[in-house]
Amino acid sequence: MIGLRIKIVRHAIPVVPSRWLACASFAAVACIAVSVCTADDRQTVTGVVADAEGLGLADLTVSVFPAEPAAPTNQPLATTSSDAQGRFTISLPTETPLLVELQGDRGRGRVRVTPDELGQPLELVYPVRTTVVLLHDNDMHFNFNHREAFAAKLEQVRSEHEHVFLLNAGDIFVRVPERWNDPRPEYYAQQSRQMVDIMNSFGYDLMTLGNHELDYIEDLTIAALQRARFPLLSANVQITTDLLPQPKPFHVLHTSHGLSIAVLGLSIAYNREGVQRLDPIDQARKYLYLREQHPLLVGLTHLGFRTDNQLAETLGTFDVIIGGHSHTMVNPAVTVNGVLIAQAAGTGSGSPAHPDRPKYLGKVTVVLENDQVVEKSGQVFTFTAPVQTAGEG
Ligand SMILES: [Zn+2]
Repeated sequence: MIGLRIKIVRHAIPVVPSRWLACASFAAVACIAVSVCTADDRQTVTGVVADAEGLGLADLTVSVFPAEPAAPTNQPLATTSSDAQGRFTISLPTETPLLVELQGDRGRGRVRVTPDELGQPLELVYPVRTTVVLLHDNDMHFNFNHREAFAAKLEQVRSEHEHVFLLNAGDIFVRVPERWNDPRPEYYAQQSRQMVDIMNSFGYDLMTLGNHELDYIEDLTIAALQRARFPLLSANVQITTDLLPQPKPFHVLHTSHGLSIAVLGLSIAYNREGVQRLDPIDQARKYLYLREQHPLLVGLTHLGFRTDNQLAETLGTFDVIIGGHSHTMVNPAVTVNGVLIAQAAGTGSGSPAHPDRPKYLGKVTVVLENDQVVEKSGQVFTFTAPVQTAGEG
């Protein structure tokens, strides 16, 4: 592995051949210099790789990708090779920001070039080491408690890591009226809306539907779920009623520098009118192709810990399975057949919601080098009620 540091400079001024001299001045620090020139609706990206230690200058593959976070970035806009002096030129339709990727026989690195970074040196460590953090919770059952402590932890993790996603593995609601604090449907309507609104406010990225969402109540469940500003997943339920939204089988998340993460949803559901449950392992098998298209495949499941283990034993293609339903505290996360399995306990459902119940947050950390997973681990944080001091009720 080589620890080469590469500097990429994007010049605001159109590039003329003489500017190669300016680029060459970076040779002392072992860099590629990249310039971007826009004219006639075409954008020309020119650059030179200089003094790349251990890396030949010729025949490096240089690719340019669009960098919109929502856009698939596995297809380059254009690709070329460096010449014997390490020079390259790519012309493409105007499209900013850009990701510029350099690939040699020692792996590849990418850097994001945005308009507001004009002229500023950007560093690219080659090969690129990326840490993806998947925060997750499950089975809250109307108990989204200790929100201040949760928010503080969320802010801390988001400030410590660049690529953080927040996922929910189902059962945010309580289906059973006997377990409500108030037996009237208005209670369910208010609580379910509130759960989704809180999740929106914290910026959840995805949720897999749990049986307490799929075992819906009239139009109250869909009214709450439709407020979600994040996709709802499940690859193994088919909805034939308009009282529930049809979940997506999977969703692809993108980091700001173009790494893609495919997340497949799988749920326990009890067959009822309008909801058909298909075998989760059979359905999951149909989506394993996602692992060929994306460096990370995550199962976001509401199946229970035992089924998550079966899923991992049967289909070792998953990098990570984040689960729910069985309320299992998996701390630290375990590895089965090469698959990291995580779950962050669960709160309530057997009895009415109560603000003193703990709130759990799982944190799965995946480290990739040149888009290959090299490390993965998981832990669970617990937030509890403040300790009552003597004299307080
Ligand atoms: Zn459940």
